[in-house]
Amino acid sequence: MLSFFQNMSWSSWLLSLVDISIVAYGLYRFFLLIRGTRAVQLIKGIIILLVAVPVSSWLHLYTTHFLLQEIQVMLVVALPIVFQPELRRALEHIGQGRFFSEGILMHEEADVAHAIDEVARACDHLSRSRTGALLVWERTTGLNEYAATGTPIGALVSAPLLENIFVPNTPLHDGACIIRGDRVIAAAAFLPLTDSAQPGSELGSRHRAAIGISEQSDAVVVAVSEETGWISVALEGHLYRRLEDRALREMLTSLLVAKPHTSLKIWRRGVNS
Ligand code: ATP
Ligand code: MG
Repeated sequence: MLSFFQNMSWSSWLLSLVDISIVAYGLYRFFLLIRGTRAVQLIKGIIILLVAVPVSSWLHLYTTHFLLQEIQVMLVVALPIVFQPELRRALEHIGQGRFFSEGILMHEEADVAHAIDEVARACDHLSRSRTGALLVWERTTGLNEYAATGTPIGALVSAPLLENIFVPNTPLHDGACIIRGDRVIAAAAFLPLTDSAQPGSELGSRHRAAIGISEQSDAVVVAVSEETGWISVALEGHLYRRLEDRALREMLTSLLVAKPHTSLKIWRRGVNS
């Protein structure tokens, strides 16, 4: 091994260094690209599968090994079909040169806390004036694909801005506002509707869209009903309805500032859903 390295010429050393650097940088950019998307879960699954195949063979678990191998083959065919939109976007991303230029978005806690205050104030005003609204706050799952269905905006979150966006019969009121960190990144975005409206509730499309996006991502979704003025939060497929201002603030703070990765098990018990 040592003699192998000793026999290497300077040019081979240099080429190997360049080679390793390119691969390392490529992997680094790839992980930045998929960070916060559902592809992360998928890659974890693939890694587990790749480890499980040789382990099952080594342990002579013939049937398990056979099944895992079959799943591997199936995945090669199924993945490009299931993840076709993501793959297309990733290629567009690389094509636009953003693969090499875009950094990780970091948000200061104080800025997000300020944005929460502004959102809570806006919801209070919208609720009093019975103005319907839908706000989706991104957490770790990237929401670019949903933001792309609306109008791009790059403004700091403020109560007057949000109230203005949801004024009925204005161009941006119809659809959802998407927030990343302390910025509104899009308005009038179209969200997926849930199929599983909670039993006993006659939810309209705004609230079904709120639940829908919370099923497909870990986003925190705030809806204001134009019929009742109630403020609701959708999280992980559950709708927590009729929240008071304080409860809304506490909920948003615990999800977005204190521990951005927490799930809201505590709220399951405390708030009616
Ligand atoms: P509300 O209690 O405010 O009446 P709702 O749950 O009864 O709400 P609708 O009355 O159907 O729902 O609300 C319609 C509005 O919800 C639309 O005008 C639009 O702004 C918004 N909306 C409906 N579907 C979607 C969707 N898929 N994505 C984003 N916004 C949507
Ligand atoms: Mg309605």
